[in-house]
Amino acid sequence: MRIEDPRLTAAFRELGVELRPSTSLADETSLGIGGTTDLLRIQKHESIPDLLALLDKNHVPHKFLGGGSNLLVGDGELPWVMLQLVRPEPDVQIEGNIASVDAAADLGRTVTFCAKNDLGGMEGLIGVPGTVGGALRMNAGAYGMQIGSYVREVKLYRAAARRIETLRGEQISFEYRHTSFAPDDMMLSVKLELPSKPFREILQGIRICNEKRRSSQPLGQKSAGCIFKNPPGASAGRMIDELGLKGLSVGDARVSDRHANFFVNAGKASAKDMLALIASVRQRVHKAYGFDLENEVVVWTA
Ligand SMILES: Cc1cc2nc3c(=O)[nH]c(=O)nc-3n(C[C@H](O)[C@H](O)[C@H](O)COP(=O)(O)OP(=O)(O)OC[C@H]3O[C@@H](n4cnc5c(N)ncnc54)[C@H](O)[C@@H]3O)c2cc1C
Repeated sequence: MRIEDPRLTAAFRELGVELRPSTSLADETSLGIGGTTDLLRIQKHESIPDLLALLDKNHVPHKFLGGGSNLLVGDGELPWVMLQLVRPEPDVQIEGNIASVDAAADLGRTVTFCAKNDLGGMEGLIGVPGTVGGALRMNAGAYGMQIGSYVREVKLYRAAARRIETLRGEQISFEYRHTSFAPDDMMLSVKLELPSKPFREILQGIRICNEKRRSSQPLGQKSAGCIFKNPPGASAGRMIDELGLKGLSVGDARVSDRHANFFVNAGKASAKDMLALIASVRQRVHKAYGFDLENEVVVWTA
């Protein structure tokens, strides 16, 4: 979608919003798949209510992009614009056991920064790409932990109320890769309450998690992490592996040989290829095990 109306582009400038025309989502996502659209980069949280009112008034649909590491975006010209927060400097501030983190902060760097300040708990998230905002939205987790357990409060743009609000941790439900935020709420910043731990001990935990990832995931290839959620009491990866589907391909979309729940873009895969591969694997798992696998990857198609 192209925004060419000079009144809109002038209004963006006034709001401190940078317009990047015809951005390729293939370049902005870890899967390397996706068509093009205009990207609006937001400098100041306070401008968001006015920006969204402006987009709504002019019938411009939008979606929110974090680090693009959990997204499968459709091909061709996309019928919506992308919004993204610009990372401020500094993006993490520590006071006692509380880390105040901007949603645009890189998740991995946040984990290490907190570690250097003797704050632990998030070792499992090392190696999870993307932003802190994306991790909150998805309740990212690994190796028995999830970010939601450490959330003291979240500042967010509440789409329903059309204003910026602060929610306490206990007002939000964090479940397995699911949160109670409304689909068009926008995370702006978070206060995490983290346990004190000596840096050396945290580093040891980080090394163990890094090693586990390196030995089991196709880290050098383009992916969006796990494609499917694990159904209760079962492992999607194990079922796909047991069915002998590692290496199954549609075009350049391929089930990883290393981790059966990671689907990789082995070249120039299109969204159509990847969606066909997902549908084929889902159908075979359903036939063999009776589970209807739910996507963990967020799919945006027109
Ligand atoms: C190699 C690899 C390993 C991975 N390992 C794990 C893992 O172990 N555990 C795990 O949980 N995930 C894992 N993932 C998936 C992914 O990294 C996480 O889900 C991550 O938290 C997504 O963050 P993001 O900023 O990239 O979000 P995006 O992919 O940009 O967006 C994902 C969703 O969050 C929304 N969103 C993003 N930012 C905001 C915001 N500020 N406000 C509102 N909504 C927002 C988007 O609209 C979209 O709906 C892995 C991915 C890869 C590529």
